[in-house]
Amino acid sequence: MAPTPFFPRNLWGGGRRPAPTNNTRKIINVKQDADMKELKREIARQGGIIIKELPLINAYLAEFPTDTHAQVVSVLEAHPSINSLDDDIKISITSIPSPYGGNSVPGASNQPKQEIGWGVKRIGAEAFLNVTPKSSIKVAVMDTGVLGNHLDLRGGVRGAVNMAGNTSDLSDPNGHGTHVAGIIGALNNDIGVVGVCPGANLYAVKVFDSKGQGSLSDIIHGLQYCIDNGIKVVNMSFGSDEDNASFQKAFQNAEKAGIIMVAAAGNDRYQHKIQYPAKYSNTIAVSALSPSGNIASFSSFGPEVNLIAPGENINSTWNDGLYKSESGTSMATPFVTGAVAQMLNKWGDMTPAQAKQHLMRTARRLPLPGIYQGAGLVDLQQLLTVKPA
Ligand code: CA
Repeated sequence: MAPTPFFPRNLWGGGRRPAPTNNTRKIINVKQDADMKELKREIARQGGIIIKELPLINAYLAEFPTDTHAQVVSVLEAHPSINSLDDDIKISITSIPSPYGGNSVPGASNQPKQEIGWGVKRIGAEAFLNVTPKSSIKVAVMDTGVLGNHLDLRGGVRGAVNMAGNTSDLSDPNGHGTHVAGIIGALNNDIGVVGVCPGANLYAVKVFDSKGQGSLSDIIHGLQYCIDNGIKVVNMSFGSDEDNASFQKAFQNAEKAGIIMVAAAGNDRYQHKIQYPAKYSNTIAVSALSPSGNIASFSSFGPEVNLIAPGENINSTWNDGLYKSESGTSMATPFVTGAVAQMLNKWGDMTPAQAKQHLMRTARRLPLPGIYQGAGLVDLQQLLTVKPA
């Protein structure tokens, strides 16, 4: 299937307005019965420019001159048509940044022989690698892009879209998104690695730049794409320490729309604080397991963790067309996303609440504190044989 093109609309319609050179972005949450004509006039009076519409939360992303920011906030926060005025929070991928690896694909002769990784074995996925993924089960990788023509992913990436910045470049200049994609769906063939649900129908929703940095508005935009394109499950190997009303509302509305969201707990190796959106009850929060069976030293944890999954020394596809070993809750999250793809393939459609319940009910409890593992280690044998309640 061809990817659905996405064109951010210029809401002013007419001629271009010069963008302020030093500006601050705000998400303007608008009341349902707002007089939009009047509100747009007020935004313009405050020197603001609407960048894009965020229909998922009935909001607009706008830019205002930074030097009058305090005045803008006081005027708009008191405006009768506005519910809340929120920061466009910066959000980052949850792994150590990697140098640019290029987007060339080495020939088949350079490919290593396929090896099944410790993570795939540990969650019991080895017995289910001959799965035939149904085309209706669409999995989004909300990340830095995916190298779709990697020889161990080829054919699995069914769609791609770029929400990050103003280019239409669909490549993965970071590597992180390609790595996550391989953990979910690398092919069961003769080469490289193998994913939890080999050949899963992947959609690369690019919301982060080459350094793995993005913003809340791009993620909200990406969620809208997922809803409009019938995505069932979204992998979210990213997070932020910050939270606001727009962030909460976007995740509540995405869950209401039936999107199963799997999120990385975070890599706060000192305070182990869980990041947003993993902290929201609308997502499935995943901490990272080390090969020795302990929680990974870098993993965030807390009462919000739902599941633990392999997240240390995980070999997967990379954006140089080869493979790389990486660590992070970013790597643990796609093990659960792949398990969700297998689960939907086996049992049919589920609501986000049903999916979370079945994953947690069938998880294997490890000899670790509850705040480290939630319900335990995702377990495909149980997940795919115990009938959902
Ligand atoms: Ca392979």
